[in-house]
Amino acid sequence: MGNLAVIDIVSLSPLAREPVFGGPSALERTLKWASELPEWQGTVLLAGRADELPEGCQLISGQPSASGGKLRALVLDKWNEEELVRALMSAAAESFGETDAPAEALFFMRGDSALPDTQTSRVLWNLHYRYDAEYTFADGYPEGLVPQILSVQLPARLLPLARGREGGVVRDSLFEILRQDINAFDVETHLAPEDLRMERVSITCDTRRNRDIAEKLYAAGGVDAESLCRIIPENGRLLRSFPAYFPIQITDYSPQSVSYCPFALKTDPRKGGSFMESSRFISLCERIIDFAGDAVFSLSPAGEPAAHPDIENLIRGALKAGERAGNPPVSRVLVETSGIGWKDGVLESLAADYSGGRLMWILTMDASDEELYRRIRGEGLEEAEASARRLHRLFGRNFYLQAVRMEENEEHLETFYRKWQDEGVQVIIQKYNTFGGLLPNKQPADLSPLKRFPCWHLKRDMPVMLDGTVPASWVRTQWDKPAWNVFTHSLEEIWAAGETLYQQHVNGEYPGSCGACDEYYTFNF
Ligand code: SF4
Repeated sequence: MGNLAVIDIVSLSPLAREPVFGGPSALERTLKWASELPEWQGTVLLAGRADELPEGCQLISGQPSASGGKLRALVLDKWNEEELVRALMSAAAESFGETDAPAEALFFMRGDSALPDTQTSRVLWNLHYRYDAEYTFADGYPEGLVPQILSVQLPARLLPLARGREGGVVRDSLFEILRQDINAFDVETHLAPEDLRMERVSITCDTRRNRDIAEKLYAAGGVDAESLCRIIPENGRLLRSFPAYFPIQITDYSPQSVSYCPFALKTDPRKGGSFMESSRFISLCERIIDFAGDAVFSLSPAGEPAAHPDIENLIRGALKAGERAGNPPVSRVLVETSGIGWKDGVLESLAADYSGGRLMWILTMDASDEELYRRIRGEGLEEAEASARRLHRLFGRNFYLQAVRMEENEEHLETFYRKWQDEGVQVIIQKYNTFGGLLPNKQPADLSPLKRFPCWHLKRDMPVMLDGTVPASWVRTQWDKPAWNVFTHSLEEIWAAGETLYQQHVNGEYPGSCGACDEYYTFNF
């Protein structure tokens, strides 16, 4: 009997193969961690065709076999969650021992983990072994420190739940598959001494941002799971690194004057007629990727993207900006639309190339009752509904229908939700935003946390207005005159200038419109 490490290196970022903390790379650290696991028999890497395998690594046979080294790889052309479960079944069947005895458990980890923790992995293993669990995981730690442990019988039991799951593999794919019928499995959980889930810290070398935060925390003394649980709550200022989310306004035109849009207080968006030039927008996206390393671009806050005469090119340009450095692509695009004004063929053409998850859609509809829709948004419900069905058909799980929850539609929301859920559409209920007290408070309920924390938008977002100006946050567009412009200043200096307000939040000070704003707890990307 013994244990196997299964390490996912599919589409690993090149950052995972570079030195980190002035020493070995994350991949080297993860491979070493694997070899130190209790009763370790061998390691199986899950890889794509384009992923470079470490020297001396052999391909696994798919049949029980004791021949070969301790490091083997299972390589596929295309991975999804069903393939992941099948691969774990193959790994479980692979024998590394001299007696061909099968392994007892699989320790599953991603190969970009910068500080995989041997000690906490042992704690997890003891728990798993003592209670003869099928699945054991840790809760409350930052990502990238501890594995998920599976009994070797579990992948076969998960297969029926994984069938047809064609989405890409993410860190919590296994838990998401198991969660569909969680009571059917023996699950054990190890809780972190400090619950850090809210901080969304990932000690991984998958993005420039995560690696930078990991390096800063390491320099402050966060060198393993235990010390990180102490260091992170004491060092909030270290958690702001490169921005991740870039809402870029590409037009000031909207076919509707939406009742809760603060921009409509000053000008009628139906009379807007300015558009960001395509070449300007695309070169901005490229600069953003060069600066931040990866990005989610959102088109277009306070403006209808469908109205831009070159919208398809803009979306393609933003996606291509993240493909320049080779695999894996580092940009994604979120299109936020009313669903009104999409020209024939544009959505179909985009879906032909980008239906796999890099292109996401939110259509805000707010109501499916015609009279209520007209009161909140104006004319166009019929066209919006047709677009919603089209987007759902073309983009599947990467399409969301949204309703902003407010007093006007509160009673209608359940009908709205059920109607679209019956059609298989995912519905997001979004929080109403008063824009720091500028709009009347129409929130049916206050869902803000009991204890305030630094604003997510200061930590992760860089909004860009049509003229290139950069407000401190989307809410602050209504309050401050931005001093910075992406077309005349460097992104580095603009982002650095936001540090002061973020530091005030870390200190528990909320100046200006921040004081009356409750958007701080909403998280984009
Ligand atoms: S708290 Fe509100 S106003 Fe302040 S930065 Fe965050 S979103 Fe903007």
